[in-house]
Amino acid sequence: MSAFEQTIVLLARATAFTVVCQVCADLDPHGEYAGLTAQGSLRLGHDMGWTECPRGHRIRVIRAGGAVSAEATTPLW
Ligand SMILES: [Zn+2]
Repeated sequence: MSAFEQTIVLLARATAFTVVCQVCADLDPHGEYAGLTAQGSLRLGHDMGWTECPRGHRIRVIRAGGAVSAEATTPLW
């Protein structure tokens, strides 16, 4: 029951995402794009979560490593 079909990696500062479910895309390569996407969110400070596509495939979400965030938050102006 705990098996995840797929895993996505979020950018360090991202809090919301939309992904194409690869399982659905494989099952129904001619399906409408909107029917293949899953939306979810991950609060800042949370390193892992999961979402489900419209057909119920579980998608694991992992945040990119914290080492990257220091670089990403360096002011450029
Ligand atoms: Zn799916």
